[in-house]
Amino acid sequence: MREKKGDSDTRDDLRVTRTEPSESGPGFAVCLTHDVDRPYKTYQGLYYAAKSNPGYHLRTLLRRENPYWQFEDIMALERDLGVRSSFYFLNEPSLLETGSLSDWLEPKNWVEHLGRYDLDSASIADAVRDLDAGGWEVGIHGSFRSCDDFDRLRTEKRELEAVLGHEVVGGRQHHLKLGPNTWRYHRELGLKYDASPGSSSENGFQHGYRPFRPFDDDFVVFPLTLMEVSLPDPGSAFDEAWIECERLLDEAEANDAVMTVLWHPRYFNEDEFPGYRRLYRRIVERALDRGAWVGPVADYYREFLAERDSRDDSDERATDSATAGGANHSLSP
Ligand SMILES: [Zn+2]
Repeated sequence: MREKKGDSDTRDDLRVTRTEPSESGPGFAVCLTHDVDRPYKTYQGLYYAAKSNPGYHLRTLLRRENPYWQFEDIMALERDLGVRSSFYFLNEPSLLETGSLSDWLEPKNWVEHLGRYDLDSASIADAVRDLDAGGWEVGIHGSFRSCDDFDRLRTEKRELEAVLGHEVVGGRQHHLKLGPNTWRYHRELGLKYDASPGSSSENGFQHGYRPFRPFDDDFVVFPLTLMEVSLPDPGSAFDEAWIECERLLDEAEANDAVMTVLWHPRYFNEDEFPGYRRLYRRIVERALDRGAWVGPVADYYREFLAERDSRDDSDERATDSATAGGANHSLSP
């Protein structure tokens, strides 16, 4: 068994088929995604207070304000822009169920676990259903250890679907953490895509311009192009952050790329993360100005990558057969 290193995958033994622009229609596209890690700011405020700006963090904690609850704001912003996005919901087991003493002694775990949420709590369930009813995608955000745990992934998928009322199409792993078998598990569970390969420190197209098919079937992987934290802080260096975004849009447009963007919901809170909301809006506006297809990953998958029924669209066959042989590439590191 090969060793796994860092965030990125080491599946370079897999033959992967890139999807080609002619296969997927729109050329330049931007997929918008939000990983819902912690919609509540709770006692983790104490952790942040100890690190910076104690007055603000203690105040929001004591007033029971909920500065990380951004669902309605993001929906309003995207509705205003005329776009939709994907929200990936996490179902992290409680530290009470799984934690060892050493887990409890690690302050970082307090942030993870004290901010955790129950999918079937009334407010989260309402948010899930509101998003779904409004045309947003609700997908799975596989918990930290689920990348190596088929049963855990199956439970998380089942519980999310119980709240949602129908099947999910795909999602992304928490911390972008993939194991050697994670995609096989996803596929076996009936998921159609994963959007994990990428980095929280480096943006760009290191994993390619196009979604790819690791098993040469209908399961597709969408590389992550841009996570907000990889940018210069737009609160203090908005122009620098924007220049980096514009460079990525240029590169995406020039290469008919599918650019996948991740903005965690809490970054839409302008008090704690000034500049991020404005930057997100500008990325979407510019992408639309340039004629990009913009939307949730599942919509892109369904519209352009899902297996077609050849009986119904014989006129598509020529195109299909032209690309069916598609270039096989190794997924190079
Ligand atoms: Zn996450």
